[in-house]
Amino acid sequence: MIVNRRHALQLGLLCGSSTILGWKLFAAEADDTLLPTYLVQMEKIRPLFTKKAAPESGDWLASHKEPGQTFAQYRTIAPNRPTPVRKKIYLQSIGTFTVEQERVIDTLRRFMGIVFGLEIALMPPLGLEKIPAAAQRTNGFTNQRQLLSTHILYQILKPNRPADAVAVLAITNEDLWPGKDWNFVFGQASLGDRVGVWSTARMGDPVREAQLFLRRVLQVAVHETAHMFGIKHCIAYECCMNGANHQGESDRTPLVFCPECDAKLWWACKLDVPKRAKELHEFAEKHQLKSDVAQWKHIAEALAP
Ligand SMILES: [Zn+2]
Ligand SMILES: [Zn+2]
Repeated sequence: MIVNRRHALQLGLLCGSSTILGWKLFAAEADDTLLPTYLVQMEKIRPLFTKKAAPESGDWLASHKEPGQTFAQYRTIAPNRPTPVRKKIYLQSIGTFTVEQERVIDTLRRFMGIVFGLEIALMPPLGLEKIPAAAQRTNGFTNQRQLLSTHILYQILKPNRPADAVAVLAITNEDLWPGKDWNFVFGQASLGDRVGVWSTARMGDPVREAQLFLRRVLQVAVHETAHMFGIKHCIAYECCMNGANHQGESDRTPLVFCPECDAKLWWACKLDVPKRAKELHEFAEKHQLKSDVAQWKHIAEALAP
């Protein structure tokens, strides 16, 4: 199972490197005016959450001994946060998209706008002709085209990153590989450079499995963007920031952030927590995110003014 092992290793690399030297260069000025309110709001929703279950064989925590990260610990690392200058998240589409896939990206944009409370701006779409032959290959196992993720990160996203970007995320339908000896990778990010790329190629059929496809796109996008804000994997609760080693585990992971992890976003992005909770509940109802809608309803009720 070399393929799976390499895949797991790559996810480990991607998801495990959130604390790196250099964060302080990008840190916003500390502003704790809202902190007492957030601490009260955290306790209001804490009883609604389930402690993280023990991992099954093959799950992320069975092979990754991670320390977790509380809200209090997060505040001490001076994480990447929006600033008056770096105030937008940019989405960059690469390659061609069907009407259904474009609709999913539009939905993703609205979801991220609520989760992070920031403007989600679109970069002009990038065609495959802009990817040189040296950064493309045909995978020997699947016979599918793949794009070199490191080329996208360092030759496309980083040099073109707008000055007002707190993070730039590329999304493509093409399968990705990160370099020699690798079969494929779901995504890759450079946290220090605030750029990341994710593929939907292995997320199912956007027509026949529309709900599943949408949920996977939403979950991966907010999980990986949260890493770019310095948020580590969660080991405390069943939470969107739980690590996942395989698709089954990823599909079991909630879209909802637990109190410790959500408070990190509230504080990093200075969010209006009751307003956002209401909007998340409405979004989940509208898009029939069945496994998460009840939880967002309870959270919105607990936080209502
Ligand atoms: Zn992760
Ligand atoms: Zn959490």
